[in-house]
Amino acid sequence: MSDQIELDAEMSVDVVAERTRTWLEEHLPQEWKDAAVDGGTELNAVVERLGATWFEVLGGSGLATPSWPREYGGLGLGADAAAVIASELARRRAARPEADFPGLALGGPTIIAWGSEQQKQRFLPPLARGRERWCQLFSEPGAGSDLAALQTRAVRQDDGSWRITGQKVWNSFAHISDFGMLMARTDPAQPKHRGITYFLLDMRSPGVSVRPLRQLNGEAEFNEVFLDDVVVPDSDRLGPEGAGWEVGLTTLMAERSGLSGRPGVGPALVGGLVRRARHTGAWSDPVVQDRLVRAWVQEKVLQMATVQAFVELGFREPGAEGSLRKLAHAGLEEEVGRIAADLEPAGLVAVDPEDVEQTEARRAFLSAKILSIAGGTSEIQRNIIGERLLGLPREPDPYVATPYRDRPRS
Ligand SMILES: Cc1cc2nc3c(=O)[nH]c(=O)nc-3n(C[C@H](O)[C@H](O)[C@H](O)COP(=O)(O)OP(=O)(O)OC[C@H]3O[C@@H](n4cnc5c(N)ncnc54)[C@H](O)[C@@H]3O)c2cc1C
Repeated sequence: MSDQIELDAEMSVDVVAERTRTWLEEHLPQEWKDAAVDGGTELNAVVERLGATWFEVLGGSGLATPSWPREYGGLGLGADAAAVIASELARRRAARPEADFPGLALGGPTIIAWGSEQQKQRFLPPLARGRERWCQLFSEPGAGSDLAALQTRAVRQDDGSWRITGQKVWNSFAHISDFGMLMARTDPAQPKHRGITYFLLDMRSPGVSVRPLRQLNGEAEFNEVFLDDVVVPDSDRLGPEGAGWEVGLTTLMAERSGLSGRPGVGPALVGGLVRRARHTGAWSDPVVQDRLVRAWVQEKVLQMATVQAFVELGFREPGAEGSLRKLAHAGLEEEVGRIAADLEPAGLVAVDPEDVEQTEARRAFLSAKILSIAGGTSEIQRNIIGERLLGLPREPDPYVATPYRDRPRS
């Protein structure tokens, strides 16, 4: 039985879905299929044991990265077919874990758009097969929403390499990553959006230290990353020197679209809450029913908008429209967190920050704000929608042309 799957860009999404289902039926280990039915700790144990082998097979078939070009481990399919495949993988719980999201959804597309042939050959196939993990090193203590204010400094050495010093923060999965997408300032004499350069950082380089941060929901998924005189070869620069802002925008657009592009955008969210409300009896309250049905409708509309957006995208890069879906998705997650808390208030008390085996209500409540901050806050998405989609005037910046080093520090 071949591990390859026969798919091409001419096929209808129904054929793509059918072939993906058949391929998964034939290739996904039986143990995995059995554990996926109930999920939970049993599935975690199977993923822990069989994950590396399964992700190698999945990556080898091209199904982990279906929209990438074939020569780098993809299948050359459009966004709609890729979304259908992601949906089938999610249904069988056979997709790559969340920790691989930065590499697959952000790093891969950015390297495809901006990388040299050598960089594509080096970095894309291992990413597709789950051999290497990536994190995003953008935010800094003084540069989040205003990312272009970043201060991490990269200075060119006589031998052409770069010496990098600075601090990054909120970097998801940096503690378990092999590489980081790094933006650093290479020319402070330029205005702030220019003079930035994008690097592909080997996280094991001397001078890189990673410190996990504990989150509100008890998990420790993100980190601070300190860079002390880290030397990066010029061959690991992505895109032209000084074009880091444009390269970074490719990553950010992919992130906004990807964060709300998961085909499973919430099927478990409201459906799970309804099941829970039926179980506890809260469903008999008409006010609860009304809130849940409203959230359910919002979720369905978002799912349909996501499918529609992917059909329209085809082979085009995601644009500012991704901000609309991200904003709607963030609002939905906040509402779901509020409803979950109102349904089971007792589940929220006595929060032990070390306890990651939490009730669903507590998890939903304490995680409710994640999506309205990560990948650009909801206020920033509103700014983008106003400026780029509605044509409103841009936020004024009197220092737009001022060299970065002469800007007053806030
Ligand atoms: C779960 C999670 C994972 C993350 N993962 C990563 C990661 O992997 N890599 C990474 O680099 N970063 C990551 N981040 C960081 C994230 O991108 C930033 O937190 C986010 O961009 C906001 O920046 P900030 O925290 O500095 O807040 P600030 O920019 O200081 O914003 C503070 C408040 O001011 C508002 N505000 C700021 N500017 C404006 C404006 N112009 N108009 C209106 N309101 C404004 C904001 O909306 C916010 O409410 C993650 C964050 C979270 C929560």
